[in-house]
Amino acid sequence: MNTTPIVIQGGRVIDPASAIDGDFDVLVLDGEIEAVERRGQLTAPDGADIVDARGLWVVPGLVDAHAHLRDPGFPEKETIASGLRAAAAGGFTAVAAMANTDPVNDSPEITRYMLERANEAHSARLIPVAAVTRNLAGAENVDYAAMAAAGARMFSDDGMPVDNEVVLVRAMDAARQLNLAISLHEEDRALSSGGALNEGAVARHLGVKGYSNDAESRRVRRDLALALGSGAPVHIAHVSTRDSLELIRHAKRQGARVTCEVTPHHFAADESAALRWGPNAKMNPPLRACDDVAAIRDAIADGAIDMIATDHAPHDPHSKHIDELAPYFDPARDAAKLPTDAAVSFCGAANGIVGLETALGLAMELVAKSLIGAPRLVEMMSLNPAALLRIEAGTLAAGSRADITLIDPNVKWLLEPARFLSKSRNTPFAGRAMTGRAIMTIVGGAIVYDRRRGVDGIEEAALTR
Ligand SMILES: [Zn+2]
Repeated sequence: MNTTPIVIQGGRVIDPASAIDGDFDVLVLDGEIEAVERRGQLTAPDGADIVDARGLWVVPGLVDAHAHLRDPGFPEKETIASGLRAAAAGGFTAVAAMANTDPVNDSPEITRYMLERANEAHSARLIPVAAVTRNLAGAENVDYAAMAAAGARMFSDDGMPVDNEVVLVRAMDAARQLNLAISLHEEDRALSSGGALNEGAVARHLGVKGYSNDAESRRVRRDLALALGSGAPVHIAHVSTRDSLELIRHAKRQGARVTCEVTPHHFAADESAALRWGPNAKMNPPLRACDDVAAIRDAIADGAIDMIATDHAPHDPHSKHIDELAPYFDPARDAAKLPTDAAVSFCGAANGIVGLETALGLAMELVAKSLIGAPRLVEMMSLNPAALLRIEAGTLAAGSRADITLIDPNVKWLLEPARFLSKSRNTPFAGRAMTGRAIMTIVGGAIVYDRRRGVDGIEEAALTR
């Protein structure tokens, strides 16, 4: 690839994989990191694009191990192009695209379609996730080797649990042979059925059915035992309960090849958000009680949680029943008990919230509260997800792919969904005061997002590369 050389000068380079955290300059040449040298030591090549990174963090590009890009199938919610632009605006250089599209990504044709659309987008990289079972129906195993050959880098039926143990064990055996991870959405639907919110005070107050912690942790217990038996690399998606975390800690001590992720909303909000944000605070697994949020924060701080993943789940207002439910919810005050028809509407509203453009701002709250330091943030949002997805990313070491994110750790901003590059606006964090955001995103040595040039900078970058 021939791109303009880039010299990133004056920033704080944070690259835990290279044990670097300090004042360095970075030279990017032909899509690769050519050199990382002490500040002032690099000579810029003729014609280089000089990026002034004073006051900024220069980190390996953020990697999201869990996003729903809705393409093929749901262009009113998101497309691969809009999703990858939202990713780049959020500081992500690579995004794992879950398989619950229409058609489902259970065939090499769909994987190739996704990669082609991503290639045309000239933005963040798309990392395909193949389904575990055909059409996510839980019955028939996918041809994992064929999917891996087409470019899939993980397997998941996310959105749906894999109920059948025999099917799951077969998938784990294949995953072990291919050395690719299986990401599991853990839900025992016999226990969660009809549950729209965490089982507890908020669900009772609104008059909607609850979804118990057990629905998640019972399935986590089963699958960790299967993982230990099979030796497969198993990843537990969007962990939301204290019990699940205890089980994961135990399995790790026993030597299971298990990793887990938490979403920003599960550490930054609790079940009470539903009182104000209604369907925009409804997701699966649900926002949990304060005690679970405290357990999640502890597990982030002590390393039991390996990574932060967005579970970016864009939905249009119609799918979220926004019109029907708007009369009952107001961000300024708690809702009263819902009339029966509104409770039914709430339960039927689509699950999930957008995350690509909110994740970094919410993660920076963990740093501001000294729960984690900046290097650990980079591990959780770049190095560890890159390792999970088996992709070349997660480090700024000389010779590696030039996927780089520049973060202003001090800039204060208000989250305004109207400014999202995502096609969807479903978030309970509208109006939240944030500190820290992505300023520039470089993918394969090309600047694909540059906030300092304004949002139109994306178009410019795409045209000039
Ligand atoms: Zn899920």
